[in-house]
Amino acid sequence: MKALISGITGQDGSYLSELLVAKGYEVHGLVRRTSLTDVSRLRHLERLMQGQKVTLHTADLSENEAIRRIFEEVAPDEFYHLAGQSHVGLSFKIPESTLTEVAGSTLTLLEICRDLPNPPRFYHAGSSEIFGNPLDFPQNEDSAFRPASPYGCAKAFAVNLCCVYREAYGLFVSSGIAYNHESIRRTSNFVTKKVATSVACIAAGEEHVLELGNLNTRRDWGYAPEFVEGIWRILRHREAGEFVLATGILTSLRDFVSGAVAAAGIPVEFRGSGTEEVGVDTRSGALLLRVNPAFFRPVDPCNLVGDASKAERELGWRPTVTGIDLAAKLVLDEIAARHLQPMIA
Ligand code: NDP
Repeated sequence: MKALISGITGQDGSYLSELLVAKGYEVHGLVRRTSLTDVSRLRHLERLMQGQKVTLHTADLSENEAIRRIFEEVAPDEFYHLAGQSHVGLSFKIPESTLTEVAGSTLTLLEICRDLPNPPRFYHAGSSEIFGNPLDFPQNEDSAFRPASPYGCAKAFAVNLCCVYREAYGLFVSSGIAYNHESIRRTSNFVTKKVATSVACIAAGEEHVLELGNLNTRRDWGYAPEFVEGIWRILRHREAGEFVLATGILTSLRDFVSGAVAAAGIPVEFRGSGTEEVGVDTRSGALLLRVNPAFFRPVDPCNLVGDASKAERELGWRPTVTGIDLAAKLVLDEIAARHLQPMIA
């Protein structure tokens, strides 16, 4: 089996390529050219590339003809479309490129696949952000789309478009409607990564104050390696469609932080409320955390929690790492990675 992955350098792309190589796939990935010589995001793929299990092809999502040629050359059995601006908060600051990358490029890729003599099975990385501020919860594949961000609007368009191409042209196109899934491979502008790295710093005795936005915000957080297993199962399923991938458990950011500090053995007490809330080390009295209104979202989704019973019933997929356990896992992974740092460098 041959797979082509857009966004292979991202969190999900990296875990997915490892999973597919382990399953005997020949894996190809699209990477965009960068002027940076720092290839740290490719580090986890280097071993696979050296073993010639993964081949990288250079193309930005805007390079329609280059991408068309790569599809013709590789002739993949499966295509995983994961690339694009993936940060919800950032989409308020750069809405145009978010829309172009997330919505526009999905259209282009579907058009390219439609023209191929043997179109690959097509996975589209949809998002729970299409539900935005939902009327009902938990949400499932039939819940109304009520996006609350430019990113959510773009993903809603792309999920609908995938449905149209499946029905109009008979293509095997599926969308995973994934809720947040995290790992130490997240970039530092995601809150779970920020919490995990900050707590690891504090545990190592470094002076550090963690600044966060709304601590009452709640998310359905899962573990990325389990989610890419679900993504793979979606494309192996006999029938294409939409699948919610979620843990079904809502955790507040405050509880997530509590789980993280507890795992690192740091006793923290929260004091004050709202924008005045702080977290203090009860042994030393040191300030460890403060709320910074600059990190509040213009609109913060509430009650975004998924019902993944279709994925469990039809794909046999069920996540096991959730909320506070996830916080503990990320911190312990971060602490272990810090110890390994000198060996990598
Ligand atoms: P990441 O942000 O970690 O990875 C995004 C990938 O897209 C990177 O490889 C990035 O390349 C690539 N990319 C971005 N813009 C372009 C472009 N213009 N041309 C080519 N490549 C580009 O995201 P995740 O791995 O976490 O997520 C994968 C997908 O799943 C995304 O579409 C995301 O929106 C979606 N999703 C993720 C969720 C999550 O919790 N992780 C939840 C729901 C949906 P580079 O390395 O060069 O930046």
